Amino acid sequence: MSKNKSSESVKVVVRCRPLNRKEESNGPAGCIVQMDLRLGQVILRNPRAPASEPQKTFTFDAVYDANSKQRDLYDESVRPLIDSVLAGFNGTIFAYGQTGTGKTYTMQGAWMDPEKRGVIPNAFDHIFTHISRSQSDKQYLVRASYLEIYREEIRDLLDPNHANARALELRESPDTGVYVRDLTSCVCKSIKEIEEVMNVGNQARAVGATDMNEHSSRSHALFLITVECSQPGPDGRKHIRVGRLNLVDLAGSERQAKTGVQGERLKEAAKINLSLSALGNVISALADGRSGHVPYRDSKLTRLLQDSLGGNAKTVMVATLGPAPQHYEETLTTLRYASRAKNIQNQPKVNEDPKDALLREFQREIARLRAQLSHRKWRSKQKKEQVEGEGWERDGDEETEGEEEVEVEKEAEEYVKLEEQRLEREKEAIREDRFLLAEEKQRLLGEKERMMGDLRKEQEATEQLTAKYKAMESKLLVGGKNIIDHTNEQQKMLEMKRQEIAEQTRREREMQQQMMVQDDETLELRETFTSLQQEVEAKTKKLKKLYAKLQCIKAEIQDVNDEHVRSRQELEQTQNELTRELKFKYLIIENFIPPEEKNKIMNRLTFDPEEDQWKFQPLVPAESKSSQMKKRPASAVGYKRPISQYARVAIAMGAHSRYRAENIMFLELDMTPPNTASLDRSTDAELNQSLSVDNSPTKDRGVRKSRSWCQTPKSITSSSSSVSLAACHTATPTAAQ
Ligand code: ADP
Ligand code: MG
Repeated sequence: MSKNKSSESVKVVVRCRPLNRKEESNGPAGCIVQMDLRLGQVILRNPRAPASEPQKTFTFDAVYDANSKQRDLYDESVRPLIDSVLAGFNGTIFAYGQTGTGKTYTMQGAWMDPEKRGVIPNAFDHIFTHISRSQSDKQYLVRASYLEIYREEIRDLLDPNHANARALELRESPDTGVYVRDLTSCVCKSIKEIEEVMNVGNQARAVGATDMNEHSSRSHALFLITVECSQPGPDGRKHIRVGRLNLVDLAGSERQAKTGVQGERLKEAAKINLSLSALGNVISALADGRSGHVPYRDSKLTRLLQDSLGGNAKTVMVATLGPAPQHYEETLTTLRYASRAKNIQNQPKVNEDPKDALLREFQREIARLRAQLSHRKWRSKQKKEQVEGEGWERDGDEETEGEEEVEVEKEAEEYVKLEEQRLEREKEAIREDRFLLAEEKQRLLGEKERMMGDLRKEQEATEQLTAKYKAMESKLLVGGKNIIDHTNEQQKMLEMKRQEIAEQTRREREMQQQMMVQDDETLELRETFTSLQQEVEAKTKKLKKLYAKLQCIKAEIQDVNDEHVRSRQELEQTQNELTRELKFKYLIIENFIPPEEKNKIMNRLTFDPEEDQWKFQPLVPAESKSSQMKKRPASAVGYKRPISQYARVAIAMGAHSRYRAENIMFLELDMTPPNTASLDRSTDAELNQSLSVDNSPTKDRGVRKSRSWCQTPKSITSSSSSVSLAACHTATPTAAQ
């Protein structure tokens, strides 16, 4: 990838968590990760290798060991990024690493404890403090969204119906790039509000996690904040800058055990971590720089992070590690990925005056409401003055500002009051006027009543408009006005000092790293030798050093080769499984599905480039669907299928089983009391009689719980039923309709 002037590389920092209790009790092997905070280096020891084997060293933009504080990480590595977002850049922070290494701790941390608050809550503080301290000619609009990707489905965590909501779709637009369609976005006016949004999302996530074990370590969570800022430019017009911040807590990066997984399970396993392996491929392709194709489209996550990796964004990756020896392989893989990501070049630029800025829409709407409102009030004022008989002329200036506006508002209110009083007085006068006819009086009173109603309606409309205007306006944050900064001067100074120190540390580390590189290069140039012996000694020393370095690199190559072979074998195995399954499916299609059916299905298939997958076209074309499918024929309303007039009458009569297709069961109870008296006497004759009575359909006895149409009494002969039907049909033709 070519480095141009505006390009900058992805910043990669590594954080190692402390040993947990279980790991501490596991034995003396201890910690395999060492860190050089000054140089930004991680030194990894292989617990199974002999002591003579050289340790692996990786260099990053910053490293944070087990004793590091949340605040240090934020001030040194995240603060500059958030500042850029506030200046209108896109920014992304993502935490990558094995499950249980502290991704969620780093991104969210413990909310209640100020020492343990993670990147996200600190970013909230940062953004709103910045707004409260900015100049009053700046207007801000802050929005937040929260989503998760689980099994390649995007779910809106702020949707109240999250658990049952359908998966959201990705769309691409030339202005904003890739975005999620129909994603809820909440306008937030304070830290408290945005924290509330975060909590709502976290709760939705937690519900998912209890439903499904392992959910949270298998799902990616993205918290998106959009900060729009409008400020008058040198040309006097308001310019809008839009900064988008993605805060990403990725799923655990550990390898899924693939052995013994086949068929559906295999596909499922592949899908669970598809996004993560696709992310790995994207990072590799970008870091490699030679491959032209970057497989962003392979997963939802990589598409969403398309701008953050190799695009228009500033990105910080926090790779998290566990220090325990049993996770050596995973730790090494994480470090390799992180080290590869360092080579990714982004081209961040300020998003100035984008077409879809919501702030502009808000400003327009507010201006429109304001104009409407002031027009109404001017009108009221004008009327008042006409009523009072003052000749009033409105000058051409449409804008009403400050005191003048307040005065207009007061006058408008007064006008409404005066007008009400006047109407009341007139009504009273009409009532008392003895010369008017009762009819005339009624009419005049009605008219006045109507006028009063109009006045009230007008007033209500104005009130509604005012409420709407105020609600809209309150959503826009004005620099230094809406949010009151409670920190005192001393605290502010302290904060500034801390930021300065963080900046200093960062610069020092950068310089140290540069010096280290330059030292190696210039060592040779600086050396002058007084004797041959000295030269031999110095060169032998250097040779040894270089030899050690060579061995390190050889070991690294071997490792990478091994890993490559391993992942290749895994891929081959997966491919074989899938090929076998495909062959099996082909076999079924070829032998059991008639060719014309197959062709029909094939013809319905279309490729959806947006979703990147094949889909079936609907059987009924979309345009004719509405007319064909919506209306049920008049004869079928209330029934399962169209039904003739004759059959309806038959059903109403309940006579013949043939017409009982809609409901073939009788479920009503026969409420006649059970006939037990005859059994008490228990003579055979009586028993027979009672049984024969029970057979008679016309005199139902006993409780019959349900009866299907085939049990219908035989005594209704087809001829008699048809006679009665015919009779009924002729007798009640209207009743049946
Ligand atoms: P992940 O999200 O990567 O699966 P978590 O953030 O849930 O991991 O961390 C697992 C556990 O380790 C949590 O109990 C967390 O409090 C603890 N932990 C992680 N990182 C740190 C750290 N830097 N300092 C102290 N505790 C940590
Ligand atoms: Mg987590």
